[in-house]
Amino acid sequence: MQYQIDTIPVWEALEYQGSCLLCTLHAKTEAGEIERALGSSVMEPGIRVRTNVLGICAAHQRMMFQNGNRLGHALLMDTHAEEVLKKLEKLKARSWHGRDADGKQLAGKLRALSSRCIVCETINTHMKRYVHTLLYLWKTDPKFKKQFCGSNGVCIPHAADLIEASQKHLNARQRVEFTELCLDLLYNHLAEDEKDLNWFTQKFDYKNKSKSWENSKNAIERTVNRLRGYCLGNVPYEKPKK
Ligand SMILES: [Zn+2]
Ligand SMILES: [Zn+2]
Repeated sequence: MQYQIDTIPVWEALEYQGSCLLCTLHAKTEAGEIERALGSSVMEPGIRVRTNVLGICAAHQRMMFQNGNRLGHALLMDTHAEEVLKKLEKLKARSWHGRDADGKQLAGKLRALSSRCIVCETINTHMKRYVHTLLYLWKTDPKFKKQFCGSNGVCIPHAADLIEASQKHLNARQRVEFTELCLDLLYNHLAEDEKDLNWFTQKFDYKNKSKSWENSKNAIERTVNRLRGYCLGNVPYEKPKK
């Protein structure tokens, strides 16, 4: 077996009943990786070396900054910047005159210095494992299958990941069943979100002022998160405080 199967986090994410269980797992993993990057891994030489080489993307820099651990953040970025300076020195030392005056090539090299992220890459590895585990549970555990069928399903990007991975992990009959289920869940839930969102817009009409908001107050968040994966509203692994 390629992956070690740990079914507990996937079960927990399903039972949480968020709008997409893979978004729940992604958000949880991301928070853990940010914490780890700023905490223990600052002192782990192996991870430090990889961080120095890969760097960290803008979105994860923002999360690290919001975390408030300025010293951990500064230590990581100091040694990463040193590594980048070495690479820039080499680029500066090259002759960019004559045949080498290739702005496109230089632009490519500069982009390579700023396009990777150790947090993104670690999360992607975990997410591949979770996708595999979800498909494994779906085909081997009738209880999971039943609960997944009755769940909120997944967002569009994660439906794509699951359907793509099902080509490898499910047989032909299972693939047809799983694909139909994913599309049905996606369609039905997005249709419901859209209906609520439409009512949300109508509520701004003075004629509807006295009518109930019904289930439309978080319709923007639900619709956007369904279309693009979790990015708005409550953290999808913490129940909102009442
Ligand atoms: Zn998702
Ligand atoms: Zn990142």
